[in-house]
Amino acid sequence: MVYGLAAEEYLLLLETLGDFMEKEIEPTAREIDLKARFPTENMTKLFEQGFTSMSFPKEYGGLELPWPIYASAMEMCGKACASTALSLAIHGTCCEGLRLFGTPEQKKKYLPSLVKGETLAAFSLTEPGAGSDARNMRTQARMKNGEWHITGTKMFTTNGGKCDQYCLFAKTEKGPSAFLVDAKEAKSSRDIEKLGCRGSVTVELVLEDARVQKENLVGVEGEGLEYAKKMLFGGRITVAAISIGIAQAAFDKAVKYSRDRTAFGHSLSEFQLTQAKLADMLSQINESRMLTAMAAYLKDQGRPFESEAAQAKVVATENALNVCDQSIQIHGGYGYADEFDVHRHWRDARLMTIGEGTSEIMRLIISKSILGEPAM
Ligand SMILES: Cc1cc2nc3c(=O)[nH]c(=O)nc-3n(C[C@H](O)[C@H](O)[C@H](O)COP(=O)(O)OP(=O)(O)OC[C@H]3O[C@@H](n4cnc5c(N)ncnc54)[C@H](O)[C@@H]3O)c2cc1C
Repeated sequence: MVYGLAAEEYLLLLETLGDFMEKEIEPTAREIDLKARFPTENMTKLFEQGFTSMSFPKEYGGLELPWPIYASAMEMCGKACASTALSLAIHGTCCEGLRLFGTPEQKKKYLPSLVKGETLAAFSLTEPGAGSDARNMRTQARMKNGEWHITGTKMFTTNGGKCDQYCLFAKTEKGPSAFLVDAKEAKSSRDIEKLGCRGSVTVELVLEDARVQKENLVGVEGEGLEYAKKMLFGGRITVAAISIGIAQAAFDKAVKYSRDRTAFGHSLSEFQLTQAKLADMLSQINESRMLTAMAAYLKDQGRPFESEAAQAKVVATENALNVCDQSIQIHGGYGYADEFDVHRHWRDARLMTIGEGTSEIMRLIISKSILGEPAM
């Protein structure tokens, strides 16, 4: 027995989910990317399958499955359609944040419908002048007549304009704080065009005196950056998992093409230079998997996992970029020309070393943990 179920039962569950992803999610991934179309139908199907509820406690309608299983499910989703996976991952990060830091009333009011996917959430931390250095945020929340009034601009909010609630960070007199902001209070001022994950929606948000009920301050005033940081630790495991899925998709295509394509009277797969590429690609994918599973396991056990999540993210995202790049190389001109849909994987992977903390910031987190310095 591992956790509550037998290992075979988890495997069966993941196999069933994998089949579902292949039949129901993957077929539209190319079109979603081409049209930069939000994957509403994929989200609905996966919510119906209980995707977000997987790792959640039963009291909120969750299945209480272990985080390594959730990470594997996220990997499969990333393999099928990275845009769908990213949109779901951000939603999941908000749900987890509310579970960890929300008041009992907030959890009761918002979590059940969020976990079922009846409502959608977005995480809004980054600002035009505050990305890696989130402390530099300018968005202000002021208490007037018993309500919070929030003014400022947020940048790169995934799910913005599509969600029902924003988990949004703004400064009060006591410092950065987290708020649950109703979608109608925050105006999406523009959709940001992107290189990859084009089906996920990314917006700039403008808040002009946005009204937030005082009950919708999440947790304790002034603790917002701590909450954001901890939400991002978990989020990084999901970004690592999505990257593994993207890399696996690019790798599978490279193996197939290397068998099918002939040069100099042989299939590409007969050349040792191709074989070495494939061997390195698979080794990198499995290295990413191990680190991601380790971080997910530690999170599940309630043990510190900040550095491990950062290690998983930096390794899995950079490996994914390399695997996708090598897959394009194996496809030759057809890879660059997108005849086999491999450059989509590279474009999707390119985001992953930036979003939810850049590779540079991940390395700083890891090195601070090695040297015993205070966390960022
Ligand atoms: C498609 C997309 C979706 C996103 N979704 C969300 C979302 O849902 N919610 C949200 O809040 N944000 C989101 N983001 C924002 C993302 O998290 C930030 O882009 C990221 O944290 C980097 O911030 P920045 O873009 O301001 O870059 P900067 O912080 O300006 O960094 C620029 C470069 O400088 C480097 N750098 C910065 N500081 C240091 C340092 N101390 N040492 C060495 N190098 C350093 C960085 O690593 C990077 O290479 C999204 C971004 C994208 C592109």
